[in-house]
Amino acid sequence: MQSELMNAYYRDTWVEINLTAIERNVRSLYELYKDKGTEVMAVVKADGYGHGAYEAAQASLVGGATFLGVAILDEAIELRRKGITEPILVLGRTRPTDAALAASMKIAVTVFSLTWLKEAETVLKSNEPLSVHLKCDTGMGRLGLIDQAEIETVSLFIHQSEHFDFEGLYTHFATADEIEIEYYDEQFQQFKELSKILEDHGISVPYVHCANSAAALRFPERAFSMVRFGISMYGLSPSPEIKELLPFKLEPAFALKTTLAQVKKLPEGKAISYGATYVTKQDEWIGTLPIGYADGWIRSHSTNGGTVLIDGEEAPFVGRICMDQCMIRLSAQKHEGTVVTLIGVDQSSSITMDDVAKRLETINYEIPCVISKRVPRLYYRDGILASVKNPIQ
Ligand SMILES: *Cc1c(COP(=O)(O)O)cnc(C)c1O
Repeated sequence: MQSELMNAYYRDTWVEINLTAIERNVRSLYELYKDKGTEVMAVVKADGYGHGAYEAAQASLVGGATFLGVAILDEAIELRRKGITEPILVLGRTRPTDAALAASMKIAVTVFSLTWLKEAETVLKSNEPLSVHLKCDTGMGRLGLIDQAEIETVSLFIHQSEHFDFEGLYTHFATADEIEIEYYDEQFQQFKELSKILEDHGISVPYVHCANSAAALRFPERAFSMVRFGISMYGLSPSPEIKELLPFKLEPAFALKTTLAQVKKLPEGKAISYGATYVTKQDEWIGTLPIGYADGWIRSHSTNGGTVLIDGEEAPFVGRICMDQCMIRLSAQKHEGTVVTLIGVDQSSSITMDDVAKRLETINYEIPCVISKRVPRLYYRDGILASVKNPIQ
């Protein structure tokens, strides 16, 4: 079985996804909320933050999630085609002309405009209502209605239309991952009032939700009927500053590995890679790695002093990262084929997603998202290889 799976890709650079970690991260959050009856939406947009949407969705459902969140309709359709039957919400904008398609596949969409609803009504059949979640902008300045009167009008319209099922009301926080909670608090209070207004109109909405990972982990007493769990279901902290405030330990699910394609000793004064920007200062052991910027391993990894792990030791990138390959300086001769860890644990050392994000002056969210589809994903459950996904054959 294993050797058959191993044949599904033909390069020595891969991502390891620990499905058990995803399952446990979701279960920990589920446990935190289960007495309150608050449900967990697993956010698997952007191919599950680069981990694999379908695989991450399945692991999250085992861990207790009951709802899935994606960014675009195509992502929801992919999950349906693969056999996922649980509720799915599209968090971004869907075209009103695609309302019937979404309804037929039981995919809920985000709405924030009366014009949109009226247009969608023209394509919807009354025997197949479209589930909608009304998005309110309480301070993110992205999608959503701002004006309270407009929110009331739109709510009443959805409530009274036979074409729509008023399934959810939600908002999104801009600063829930920061220590300072004043802005978050304002958004929360505003949202609470909005949900109260709907109640006063006698409109009951089954899913009222505002918390992302940061808010869900930090403020469990402030959740409504659902929380949207994204980055932390993958075992990553929403920000470095709130890492110490998290209620349980998160287990990272993503590791990026490659192997030494060639090892050679270069004498002093030899240049490495395009532009010949690195020149050996003495006899140096140089390793060539079969990963480059086309795999999402962008050039700044070498210019910003990046390192990898080999036999538990750090080794720096030298010279520019190429499209498909890059070079490292080894402390000693190593065997070709030796495993090199770019993200993950090697013996007692590790390079975390946060380390890599800091190196690139960005956030951990961005790193797994940009590791391209050319890098096969190997899925492990309880330490055993369960499946391989290599989309490019
Ligand atoms: C991406 C997203 C989330 C998940 O946010 P995390 O910080 O990854 O938990 C939640 N809600 C919306 C609307 C999103 O776009």
